[in-house]
Amino acid sequence: MALLSIIVPCYNEEAAVGTFFTHASAVCGGLDGIDTEYIFVDDGSTDGTLDILRALAADHPEVRWLSFSRNFGKEAAMFAGLEHARGELAAVMDADLQDPPELLPELLEAVRGGEWDCAAVRRVDRRGEPPIRSWFARQFYKLINKMSKTEIVDGARDFRLMKRQMVDAILRLGEYNRFSKGIFSWVGFRTKWVETVNVERSAGESKWSFFKLLVYALDGIIAFSTAPLAIASVLGLILCAASFFAILFVIVRQLVSGGSAFGWPSLVCIILFLAGVQLFCMGILGQYLAKTYLEVKKRPIYILRESGGGDGHEGKT
Ligand code: UDP
Ligand code: MG
Repeated sequence: MALLSIIVPCYNEEAAVGTFFTHASAVCGGLDGIDTEYIFVDDGSTDGTLDILRALAADHPEVRWLSFSRNFGKEAAMFAGLEHARGELAAVMDADLQDPPELLPELLEAVRGGEWDCAAVRRVDRRGEPPIRSWFARQFYKLINKMSKTEIVDGARDFRLMKRQMVDAILRLGEYNRFSKGIFSWVGFRTKWVETVNVERSAGESKWSFFKLLVYALDGIIAFSTAPLAIASVLGLILCAASFFAILFVIVRQLVSGGSAFGWPSLVCIILFLAGVQLFCMGILGQYLAKTYLEVKKRPIYILRESGGGDGHEGKT
């Protein structure tokens, strides 16, 4: 029997997590030669999620839970889950059934066939999502794939099933600014993509506002590309070249037609423009500096408050 660890980040999912477990265990019960353990990571929920997890763990020995001291974000929750996974296979799934457990047999078959180290799910449409959000998402994937050598697959969900070898590789990337879509791809290995249509959340609501997604997208670009820094220097060079020609023009005009007192509005425009460009480039630098600063501090990715389940003991960390 091979052990499959299913990792489920949960943030205020009291409405969804019970249904998730029912569905997932119905599917996993039917998997041949597979034992399943569940690792629910309560990411500092403020609702009754943890109580539900405790109750699940009390009834089902295959359920373990970790509870964070505050909300650390889904990336941290996935990392904690992977760290605590004991299986030779591990899968990451959302608690809201947007990652349908019915796909698990297909993912499992791919990985057990030996040809693939990982099977991941990508959605081929974004139905049910506001069109403006889909448009921004598509632009983001275009942009980041131009800027970064690491391929970030459009529509890739975090739902994937991996071999232990890949899990260990992911855990070796101990960076604080985690952008999993990039990390999964960066570690390499052979990934089979399973395509699916978008499924809407079963209960509760999305934790991602448009603004949160935008910040996440920028973090992703900064984490997996240094192209913005190069753009800043190229911009500087182009402006230097332009100013060289402007100086030539001014000198020639001075020699040909004499004194020129006019032109201060254009001067104001030029100064404003250059000040803007300079601040913009400094901002880019600042972003990388800030990320470096956070990495250098080597803060833990998450802090556990409690954990339990599995072997029946609570409170061990
Ligand atoms: N999640 C989390 N911490 C957070 C935000 C979300 O653990 O700070 C979990 C959430 O409980 C869910 C998964 O990440 O299991 C995906 O979140 P959500 O469904 O809100 O995102 P969406 O599917 O809308 O992108
Ligand atoms: Mg969701």
